[in-house]
Amino acid sequence: MIRFALDDTIASLATPAGAGALAVIRVSGPEAVTLGTRVFRGERDLASLRGFQGVHGWVHDASGLADEVVVWVYRAPRSYTGEDMLELSCHGGSVSASRVLEVLWAAGARPAEPGEFTRRAFLHGRIDLAQAEAVAEVIAARGRRAHEQALAQLQGGLSRRVREFTGAIRDVLMAIEAHLDFGEDVPEVPEASSLARELRAVETELERLASSHLPSRRVREGIVIALVGKPNVGKSSLLNALVGRDRALVHASPGTTRDVLDAVVEWSGIPVRLVDTAGLRASGADAVEQAGMERTRLEAGVADVVLWVVDVSGFASEEDAAIAAGLDLSRVVLVLNKCDLGGVSLDWWANNYSLNQRFLVSALSGSGVSELQLALEKLVGAGCEESGWVANERHARQLVSAGEDVARARGVLETSGNLELCAADLGRALTSLAAITGEEVGDDLLDAIFSRFCIGK
Ligand code: GDP
Repeated sequence: MIRFALDDTIASLATPAGAGALAVIRVSGPEAVTLGTRVFRGERDLASLRGFQGVHGWVHDASGLADEVVVWVYRAPRSYTGEDMLELSCHGGSVSASRVLEVLWAAGARPAEPGEFTRRAFLHGRIDLAQAEAVAEVIAARGRRAHEQALAQLQGGLSRRVREFTGAIRDVLMAIEAHLDFGEDVPEVPEASSLARELRAVETELERLASSHLPSRRVREGIVIALVGKPNVGKSSLLNALVGRDRALVHASPGTTRDVLDAVVEWSGIPVRLVDTAGLRASGADAVEQAGMERTRLEAGVADVVLWVVDVSGFASEEDAAIAAGLDLSRVVLVLNKCDLGGVSLDWWANNYSLNQRFLVSALSGSGVSELQLALEKLVGAGCEESGWVANERHARQLVSAGEDVARARGVLETSGNLELCAADLGRALTSLAAITGEEVGDDLLDAIFSRFCIGK
């Protein structure tokens, strides 16, 4: 069993292992500075440094030098963990950091468990649990919006909202307890109907915040746009035009893209995976192409948006109709490509597929591509404009459950029911909210949260 004591000193690599200019090693705990003094020889003694001071020197053990380093000293409580800390910058690569760590461990530090530095920051009350979880979100962010959202949570944005809810619920709970203790003839205790109104307001805000989890998921995980259509209509060319480089192989013979190719771009600050699929055709395909077509159908089925690419310079065929029949047209953007060659079938497409989103483009000349891209960026960012989202599923679940308890309590007040039940519901809502910021959590939950962190975080 892992022991998460706070009285020992931990050390681990804080940067990814491998080649790089620098590697950073963190040491945290009551013995951090003493232990550093034992293994460090430099221009000044570490023990003489105040917090936020650094010094250049060498780490060594009995067998010789481990590496050249710059050591930063942080003094409790003004450090990441809230404890005395050292941050040693040594050379990157595969040997330097392991040698320095070896020396530190031999001098008495213990290898840190995953997330243990952040767990210590939480246990010392330097950050709350929602902020600790935000550290992982900041690091995992794949797009600018997800990063902004995680930083807002790290700065305590969500925690502040939770404290506001807690304060409002506590006020109502106190009034109810006054009713219970002194009866309704105490003049300063508000009426049940006005308490119910206050709870209704909290409930609405809780629901609003919890429901922001969905767009937040899109922001973090990104969305998928699949390009589908007959072979040779210009899917690969369009992908290249949208990405701005030659990601997909373009060729004049049908069936060039036999498997699925993708490229990730960031639109509206959200990661977007553009997937170029194998062309769909009714006959003449060999087994490899058939398999590619199967994957195309799968990709189109799970994509958030499907770009259905057709050749507007030729006539539509039964194959086009067959493709349309296999698509969920509500998620389809129709791209009428090769407009530089003339729009022979433009009217036919307009008459037969009255899709809201229809674009006339030439992947070859670039005409219409930026309009298409702008429209796609809008589509990607739609519904994700609001800030203050709930990124974390655990937080969303606690908000939903708090909202349900508040709703139940309000129902009791509105029907002049049992006030004891009402108080119990509000008590449960407060417990759910306290679990978000970590005021009421057990070791099991902390283990589950921090074991997902990497070592050194
Ligand atoms: P895919 O099989 O649907 O991926 O089609 P490709 O992107 O490989 O293109 C097939 C052929 O059509 C290539 O020779 C492209 O250069 C050509 N092509 C693609 N887009 C356009 C376009 O907008 N105008 C013209 N004239 N040719 C295009």
